[in-house]
Formats: sequence, structure tokens, C-alpha cells
Amino acid sequence: MRIVRIALNGFRNYEWETVELAPGTNVISGQNAQGKTNLLESVYMLSTGRSFRTRFDKELVGFGFSSAEILADVISHEREQTINIALRPGQTKKISVNGVKKTASELSETVNTVLFCPDDLNLIKEGAAVRRRLMDNAISQIRPRYAGYLAEFNRLYEHKTRILKDWHEKPSLLETLDEFSDGMCRASAQLIRYRAAFAARLGKAAGPIHGEFSGEGERLELSYKTVSTVKDPFASAKEIYYDVCEHQERHRQAELEAQQCLTGAHKDDLEIFINGTAARSFASQGQTRTAALSLKLAEREIFLAETGEYPILLLDDVLSELDSRRQEFVLNRIGGGQTLITCCEDEGISSRTGGRVLFIEKGRIKQR
Ligand code: ATP
Ligand code: MG
Repeated sequence: MRIVRIALNGFRNYEWETVELAPGTNVISGQNAQGKTNLLESVYMLSTGRSFRTRFDKELVGFGFSSAEILADVISHEREQTINIALRPGQTKKISVNGVKKTASELSETVNTVLFCPDDLNLIKEGAAVRRRLMDNAISQIRPRYAGYLAEFNRLYEHKTRILKDWHEKPSLLETLDEFSDGMCRASAQLIRYRAAFAARLGKAAGPIHGEFSGEGERLELSYKTVSTVKDPFASAKEIYYDVCEHQERHRQAELEAQQCLTGAHKDDLEIFINGTAARSFASQGQTRTAALSLKLAEREIFLAETGEYPILLLDDVLSELDSRRQEFVLNRIGGGQTLITCCEDEGISSRTGGRVLFIEKGRIKQR
């Protein structure tokens, strides 16, 4: 799938601008604060109906404008389609595809994006929650049943946490504790199965990408970590359930004392190793960026295998901190579908990429 052209009217700092995008790589260059990320944000909106930077649509409407509009011609599932998103503060946003009204979540039937923004560097260096979110988001998109298990797990987790917090004041709450624990073990077993399979697939795809990206110098490996009593996360849900129950029984007393859930898939992690050492503790800035980007590119391969089309890849500010050979990889060797890459430095980019170079200044876009 790809964007053929996109028109922005009163969106962020774009008063009225239209741009045609190349099928492959598009490098979007310009000084700070000219509208590079705003353009990526508008493309992201075409796939989700919302921004990755704000929950408030009114922030997207240009200063002094009463409404904003994004209009795009895209090719998806081998046909040309037109997407329109109209934002007017105080009203619900209007979304349509080929003139037919759609909800925000239905947009993913037409356009998918994989976004890499500077916040994604947290994937490597921060706590396990961000890596669980990566797994949860990706698996939910390709396996709708997983989203159901996850919602069920979160509901049970919240309820059980409340019981454990309040049982001192209200001992009768303990009557239902074991029921919730059992439900959580069941839901955990499902999440663990899906996550183990996804982690293996992601690792398999990310390894070669990272190897090429870093110049074959580095080995990237992923290791899925879950409840310690689970002997084989690829086993049947029933077997995993028994293993999780064993952990639960052993920790029942400790949970009452700690007043929090100590057993379940909410503590899972996806450990990342570069050349055998934990990236979280030892990776350099360039390695962190390379590894995070390799994971995103791997996610894109999984998407391709599942849907038959590459999602549109949006890379915001990835080039800084990369040495010239790693930059060259980003500029020329990602291949496959359509890619939009923003970067600040203008010097020499045009001669270093085979893709289309666009230059943005104060919300105006020029093709170089
Ligand atoms: P950088 O290289 O620093 O990341 P950028 O080109 O990515 O810069 P953007 O984040 O796209 O910059 O933002 C460009 C400008 O858009 C900023 O100066 C910002 O103030 C402006 N801007 C943001 N929201 C709006 C809005 N609703 N109306 C008008 N201008 C806005
Ligand atoms: Mg930016």
C-alpha cells in the first residue's frame, strides 16, 4: 500500500499544501520546526484516525483555522482509494473512504503504518512495560482473539489487585480471591502462548535485519521471559495453565502480604541482547537506535507475511546518532514498501539516497 498524494488544509502549520509521494523512499528534509513531523503525523492519522502526539484533536487544527482537513489518494489492495478526515473542534471528526463514512478503527482496513519516533528508543532502555506494549499492540492487530484475552486479563488483574489492596479492611473480599486468581492463570496461559510465538517470529525477522544494518558486525537476539514455573511457553494453553497455577499456589501467601499480584503475564518481558550482552544495560546510543529500528522493521515483515502488503513506514528523526554506513542502510536499503524519513540535515542527503527528496519550509513542501 502507498500514499500517492496527500493534501493538508489547516492541519498544524500547513495552511493549504499538496504533496505527491514516491512509491519507495521519501526523504523529508528541512530545518527544525518547519512541519516534518506534522506531515508524518498526518499520514499516521490516515491509518488510525488519531495522532501519535496528542489525544486532543483540536491541537491539530492550525492556529487561526476553524477546521482541518486531510485528503489522501492511496493505493491499497491494488486499487486507488480516497481518504478524507475532517476535524472541527467541538464536533466529532468525520472520516470517509471513497465517500463512505468510516470509524477511526476501520481505517486500518485501508492503510496500515509502522511508526518509529524518538520515543521508541525507550523500547531498549526502559522497563518491561514498553516491550509488553510492543507485543500487545502488534499481536492484537494480527490476532484479534488476542485482544480479547488481553482485555479479559486486564479486567481480572484490576479486580484482583483491588481485592489484595482492600482485604485487610474487608476480609469478606477474600471469598472470591481464588476465583480471580484462577481466571488470571487461564488468561495468562493464553497471553503467554501468543507472546512466545510472536517473540520467536520477531527475533527471527529482526536478527538478519540488524546484522545487515550494523554491517554484519552485530548479533541481535530476543528472549521472551515469563512466569518462572512455565517450562515450555510453546506448549498447549492447558499445560501452561498448570504451570502458572503452580506459581500461583506457591505465591498465594506472599500476594496477601505484599497486597499485589505476583503471578501472571503482567510481569512478562522481551529481553534484547546485542552480541550476547543485555542491550538495556550495555547498548550505545547508536546501537540502541539500530536495535529499536530493527525491531520495527521486523514488525513490518510480520505484517507483510500476514496481510500480503507492506505497511507504510514512518521514520521520524532516525538518522541522527547513526554512523554513515547505518545511515546509508536507512536511506537506501530498507526496500519493500513506501517509507517516509524525516531528517534535519540537508547537506548531501539528495546525493546519498536513491529516493525522492522533499524539502519543507514553514509548512510549504518543495520537491528537490
Ligand atoms: P524538528 O526538526 O524540530 O523535529 P519539525 O519540522 O518536525 O521540526 P514539527 O513538529 O512538524 O517540526 O512542527 C513544526 C511547527 O508546527 C512548530 O513550530 C509548531 O509550533 C507548529 N505547530 C504545531 N501545531 C500547530 C498548529 N495547531 N497550528 C499551527 N502551527 C502548529
Ligand atoms: Mg520533528
